[in-house]
Amino acid sequence: MTNDIMLKFSDVANVFSEIESRSGRLEMTDILAELFKRADKSEISRLVYLIQGILAPPYEGIDLGLGEQFAIRAIAASAGYSREQVEANYKKSGDLGLTAEELLKKKRQQALSSTEMDVIYVHTAFVKMAKTGGTGSQELKIKYLTELLNNSEPLGGRFIVRFVTGQLRLGVGDPTILDALSVSRTGDKSLREELERAYSVCADMGHVATVFFENPDKIRKFSVQPFKPLMPALAERLSTPEEIIEKIPICSVEMKFDGFRLQVHKKGNNVELYSRKLEKMTPMFPEIVSAVTELACDSIIFEGEALAYEETGTGKLKKKKYLSFQETIQRKRKHGISDAAKAFPLNLFAFDILYLDGKDLTTEPYEKRRKILEKIFPSGKNLKLSERKIVKSGNALEKLFRTSMDSGLEGIMAKDPNSPYAAGKRKFAWIKLKKSYGKAVDTIDVVIVGYYLGKGARAEFEFGGLLAAVQNTKSGKLETVAKIGSGFSEDEMRQFKEMLEKIQTKSPPKDLEFNDAQKPDYWVVPKYVAEVAFDEITKSPTHTCGMKANIGGETKGHALRFPRLLALREDKSVKEITTSEEVESLYYKQHR
Ligand code: ATP
Repeated sequence: MTNDIMLKFSDVANVFSEIESRSGRLEMTDILAELFKRADKSEISRLVYLIQGILAPPYEGIDLGLGEQFAIRAIAASAGYSREQVEANYKKSGDLGLTAEELLKKKRQQALSSTEMDVIYVHTAFVKMAKTGGTGSQELKIKYLTELLNNSEPLGGRFIVRFVTGQLRLGVGDPTILDALSVSRTGDKSLREELERAYSVCADMGHVATVFFENPDKIRKFSVQPFKPLMPALAERLSTPEEIIEKIPICSVEMKFDGFRLQVHKKGNNVELYSRKLEKMTPMFPEIVSAVTELACDSIIFEGEALAYEETGTGKLKKKKYLSFQETIQRKRKHGISDAAKAFPLNLFAFDILYLDGKDLTTEPYEKRRKILEKIFPSGKNLKLSERKIVKSGNALEKLFRTSMDSGLEGIMAKDPNSPYAAGKRKFAWIKLKKSYGKAVDTIDVVIVGYYLGKGARAEFEFGGLLAAVQNTKSGKLETVAKIGSGFSEDEMRQFKEMLEKIQTKSPPKDLEFNDAQKPDYWVVPKYVAEVAFDEITKSPTHTCGMKANIGGETKGHALRFPRLLALREDKSVKEITTSEEVESLYYKQHR
């Protein structure tokens, strides 16, 4: 393999190290663009995934996430040290990647032969590790990782170890990658917009980069296609019907269901269902799959909200009670998928169509998409059309909102009839009005970055609460916003402990700004998103959310007062958590 080696992994590691020492987005873009110029079209997708810290798009379900203990054993085996020695070094460095690098430099034993590795080689080895399952798989993974480290230069070892433990956070966001792709082929950012659109209608940066490298012109005509899920459109929120009518004077209003968002793809007899995070959910909803197969079209992509229901009463008193998102998921887990499909059948309420028989509909105005949707739905059992009304006044909107409340639903969604589908964007094309808005109690979505051990009665669970962070979009850093100590049942404490133990790390997440006053007993890989309720947002001397020095020189951040954990948001990814800027604006809103 040394003869036809292409982009060497050691060269990539050098570039990663250079990126780490820079903080400016422009500099990072230039460095990345130079790296991309050296990549061949057969390599570019894997290179892009490595930069994103993933192995494939989410719906492929290929995750590595090796525990630190396993990585420690591989480092020990490769560098010829004992596990204790590796752990001692890690305690000092606080970064397992740096430990690997340092110990590989002082390597006590030389591998008999080493292979020069290129990007494809390393990516393929990671995928092989990720796919190894069953009994003895951990030992095999350690063996593969040891082999990789044996073949690697010390600097490469730093990034290999960070990658496999889920801690390669280069600080390069998707927008920078898109900029760099454009610069690598055109010398400037002139194709940035086209690349961004392509990425939003096919959430696979590797695929977008490959198409672009084959022919930059193709990116201009990039189109939606079945089995390449789009980033879902998101809704803005407003707090009164009048504000909504001001934004969209004639709007199309639907009920807002608190269900499970599904993006449905069908071509011929093949059907796939994707969650909002674009993970494949097909095996979980067999009743929806068979209903979709019967739709009167060859290929289609549409979206809907799935809700499980329970039938109560008989005859004229027969009623349907819809279950919430949490209940739907819990019942699926408890009862097994096929039993749950019978006992708690689902209705999928279709609310948008994005593609039909070869035609990309995302650029069409909503009104036109809706007419097409209405021709295909309702299609009977399990598949329904989300009903809508055209509304021109605040009063009429308010009435619909009341109806929604009376039926136990979450609120309403108002949609702009003239808007194209805003893939991956939170725009005023959709506006949500929910029951909690306007009240003091609000919720935000945070990522869990650490946990505390229990004291007193909680000691037996070894779990006493969570440290939560939000994202500062300007600096790209995570910032702490709350220590959540309530909202947990005993069973939940046990579950949290078990879940977080698997991803705990000795050092804090690399891109987290925190104050020692909040230091948890264990740090964890920032991966789980949680919805948190609170009474108020206050100024805090120790939480780093939006921390700024005031004119008097006093440094203050924002924190949640009385934070309570409402639910884990398994449907959301870390990219979607609340931002520090949003917390700040909520702070000012409450004081107005
Ligand atoms: P929330 O916490 O308010 O549900 P969110 O952050 O989960 O918000 P948003 O994108 O802000 O999600 O709100 C839109 C969500 O509402 C969609 O993701 C979708 O799952 C859901 N939804 C329910 N009913 C509809 C509908 N009729 N049309 C569009 N989306 C709907």
